[in-house]
Order: sequence, then C-alpha cells, then structure tokens
Amino acid sequence: MKYWWLEKYQNLEVKKLPELFSDIQYFLIVPKNYIQIYKKIENLEISNLSEEEMCIILYRISITKNVKNCKLHQIIHQLLLIPDTSLPISDYTLAEMIEEIKGLKEKKAILEKIQFNNIAACYHCLNIFYVDRIQSINKKGECLCPFCRKNKLYYDNELIPMNYSFLFHSKMYYGISDLGCNFSKIQKILKKGIIITNSNKMNSLKGKEFYRYLKKYEKKVIPSKEESKIIKAIYDILFLYEKKGDYQGVLEINWEGNKNLFEISYLLILSCAFALGNFFYLKQIFLVVRNENLKKEIEKNLKQMIKKSYKKLQYN
Ligand SMILES: [Zn+2]
Repeated sequence: MKYWWLEKYQNLEVKKLPELFSDIQYFLIVPKNYIQIYKKIENLEISNLSEEEMCIILYRISITKNVKNCKLHQIIHQLLLIPDTSLPISDYTLAEMIEEIKGLKEKKAILEKIQFNNIAACYHCLNIFYVDRIQSINKKGECLCPFCRKNKLYYDNELIPMNYSFLFHSKMYYGISDLGCNFSKIQKILKKGIIITNSNKMNSLKGKEFYRYLKKYEKKVIPSKEESKIIKAIYDILFLYEKKGDYQGVLEINWEGNKNLFEISYLLILSCAFALGNFFYLKQIFLVVRNENLKKEIEKNLKQMIKKSYKKLQYN
C-alpha cells in the first residue's frame, strides 16, 4: 500500500492523534494554495474526492487539529486501499545518482513529451504516478504535479531513477529545509555532524524494534517500497533526541551481513542529513558501526555526499 504509514492509525485512538498529525505533516506535501482548494471540496462526499484532494483534507485536519472532523477515519480507510507505486531501486552508483540529480532541472517535464511517457515522478512531494493524472501546465508548458502543483516533475523515458531515496535526495538538493538550509549548508552540517565510530562506550537510544525489522534485509535485497520506511524509522529515532533537546544523539547499527551495504549506508546518510538540516537542537550524530565493511561503505559515501564539486554545480 502506498500510505503504509497510516496503517497504525486505522482504529484512530485519541492518544495516537498527535503522532498521526506529525506523520501527516512529515509525509504529505500539499500545494501552497491548499486552503482555497480545501474550501471548494470540504463539503463533498469522500467517494467523490481524488487521492490528491483526500490528502489536502487530511493535511488540513492535521493543521487545525479538528478531531471532530468525521472524515478523518473514512479518508484513512480510503487511502489505505491505494496500491504502492514505488519503482524498483535503481542500480546506479552514488556518483551516477549525483550526476543525475545535478542535471535534473534540464530534463523538464514539458507537455510535448507526455505522450511518450507513462510515469512521472515529483521531487518536491515525492509522489510517483501515471502521467494521465497530470491536469495542469504552467506558462512555460511544463506539467505540474497533481499533488503539490510544482514543476518538479520528470518522466520515466528520461531514464532517471524513480525510486523514493533518489527523489528524497533530489528534494534535499534543490530544496530549502525547515531551518532554511540549502544543500550546500547541509553538506557542511553533515561534515561536522556525523561521527562514525565502532566504540562500545556509546549509550544508544531506543529503536531496537526498528533494527530487528532491518535485520530482515541482512541477507536479501531491500525492496524499493521499504526505502521510505527505513528513512522514516531512522528519522523517528533521531527525533527522540530532538524532542529531549539533546545536542548529540547515537545511532547504533547492528548489521552482520555484507549485503545491502550501499543501500543501508545511503539511506542512513540521507536520514541523518534530513534530520540535521531540519532539527533545531540535534547537531551531532554518532554512528556506532561495528561491521567494518559497513563502516567503510558509510565513510566512502559520506565523503562523496559532501564533496565540493557536487556543491559547486548547485542551482539556486
Ligand atoms: Zn509533487
């Protein structure tokens, strides 16, 4: 299912509402004029709403914290029926992905190309969808994302990866974080903010459950649909430090296998970059990695992510 993160809210317990609202704000990115759209659709029957409109209503409820809105339960139910649209993880190396990200803006999703493509991906709201969902274009003839109305789309025939982690990385590269950091600032923050160690002395925080879940993938390939779950789970562990107002946090990665080393290190770096770029208190993350091969992989990929040449070519 596409909205896997809503599953735990099916029964809608009152004590879980704050967590639900914060998850909605993490996952859903709505158009700037969403309130205007909301006003037009607020009285419609749920069955007449599109997926994008349901997301807007959900977002609106999370902002106004209007729990009396009887639509909440129905919308969650409807969204859970939507199948997963994520595409396979690309077999690109990190260097190749970085090259693609740098060139993304030149491969605009213009209307003329639409007939030669099936799928579009948006690196603003991270949705992947069939091109027949596209309804609006801007004055330059660029197609706009039906979910967030931004011109940050690209098509499948451009042969650019269309999986979650690539979109997440691109979004960070072209975006400004909640703290106002652009990617070059995030690179600097990463350089200072991540300390990789194999020391036993670190006291790690919770997250045991998450690492048990991660264990499943020590010997097999991580499916593409799991990427968003892994990024969110690491983010949630880091968010516990942020909530306490801690300056430093520890992530202990118990990984025995030698499969998926690149995938795990990449997802880990992306989650840390996102957290450090968006959190106010947390400034330093100790990654405790006892698996020497994984440790080397993280160090190698981190080095590539903070490379100056990557920063120089940044658009803004
Ligand atoms: Zn979008």
